[in-house]
Amino acid sequence: MFNAILIQKDAEGYRAQHTALEESQLPEGDVRVQVDYSTLNYKDALAITGKGPVVREFPIVPGIDLAGTVESSQHPEFKAGDRVVLNGWGVGEKYWGGLAQKAQLKGDWLIPLPEGFSTHEAMALGTAGYTAMLCVLALEQQGITPDKGPVLVTGANGGVGSVAISLLHTAGYQVAASTGRPQEADYLRSLGASEIIDRATLSEPGKPLQKERWAAAIDTVGSHTLANVCASIAYGGVVAACGLAQGMDFPATVAPFILRGVRLIGIDSVMRPKADRIEAWKRLAQDLDRSQLSQITHTIGLTEAISSAQQLLAGQVRGRVVVDVN
Ligand code: NDP
Repeated sequence: MFNAILIQKDAEGYRAQHTALEESQLPEGDVRVQVDYSTLNYKDALAITGKGPVVREFPIVPGIDLAGTVESSQHPEFKAGDRVVLNGWGVGEKYWGGLAQKAQLKGDWLIPLPEGFSTHEAMALGTAGYTAMLCVLALEQQGITPDKGPVLVTGANGGVGSVAISLLHTAGYQVAASTGRPQEADYLRSLGASEIIDRATLSEPGKPLQKERWAAAIDTVGSHTLANVCASIAYGGVVAACGLAQGMDFPATVAPFILRGVRLIGIDSVMRPKADRIEAWKRLAQDLDRSQLSQITHTIGLTEAISSAQQLLAGQVRGRVVVDVN
C-alpha cells in the first residue's frame, strides 16, 4: 500500500481525498518511481479543488511534478537507484502524478535529477521554477540583455514570479515586480526586485499604447494585465507569456506589435521537448542563487495538500510549496 491524493468524479461529485492505494492500482508505465517530493503548482490547485478543467481522466492522482528514485525500470535510459525529476507531459492531468509515494510512468518523460540538486531542491523549483527559466531563456534568445532596460515580472509572489525575479536579478537585470500583495514588498526586494508595482494599475482595461516602461516582461497573469504589459513595453521589446492567473482572455490590440515591434513569446512547459528541459534545468543548476530557495519555499505533508490547494487559489500562498509525500 502507499499513500496518495486521489481525485474522483462520479455520481457523488468531484472530490479529492488523502487515501491509501494498492500498488496493483498503479497505471501502466515502464518506470516505477519512489517519490520523495512533489509540489503544488497553480494547476495542481485547480485540479485538486476542481475549480478549473485540468483533470482529463478519473480517478487520478494529481501532481504535475515529482522527484524521487527509480524503483524498477524497463526503460533503457533508467535503472533502479537513479534519481529522477518529472515535470508536465500531462502527468497529473491525464496520467497519474506525483502527489503519492509511488508513481508508474513513461521513462521518456523523466530526466535525470540535475547535477548538484537534491530532490527537495528540484521540487522547490518544480514546474514553476523550470517555467521561469524557460521564460528567462526566451528573453535571452530574443536579445534582451540587462543593458536594454528593466524587466517586469507579473504575479510576483507566485512560484513562477518569485523564481523569475531571482533568476533575472542574479543575471544582472533590473527587475520590477507587479503584485497584489504590497505587504510582501520586502520579500520581493530580497529576491532582487528594485521596483514594486501595484497590480491593480495593470489589471483594468487600458490604452492600446502606453508609456514605454520596460524592455521586457515575464507575464504569469494574462488577461488585461498582459494587454497592458504589451502596451507598455519599449520599442523592440519582448514579453514571455506563460500564465493566466487573472484570466485566459487577451483583450489587446495589435498596436504594440505593429507600431513598436513588440514580440510576444508563448511559453509552454508541459510538452516542451526533452532537450529544452535538460537545458533549462542545467541553467537552473548554474544560475540560481540557491540561498534564496529556502526563502521562496515552504514544505508541507501530503495530508495538507488539499487545504493548501485552496489557500493557493485564494492567493494566500507565497512562492513555492514542496510536498513531502512520505
Ligand atoms: P501561483 O498561484 O504560485 O502564483 C500566481 C500569482 O499570480 C499569485 O501569487 C498572485 O501574485 C498573482 N495573481 C493571482 N490571482 C491574480 C489575479 N486575479 N490577477 C492578477 N494577478 C493574480 O502560480 P504559479 O506561479 O505556479 O503559476 C503562475 C501562472 O503560470 C498560472 O496561471 C499557471 O497556470 C501558469 N503556468 C504556466 C506554465 C506553462 O507551461 N505555460 C507552467 C507553470 C505555470 P501576487 O499576489 O504577487 O499578485
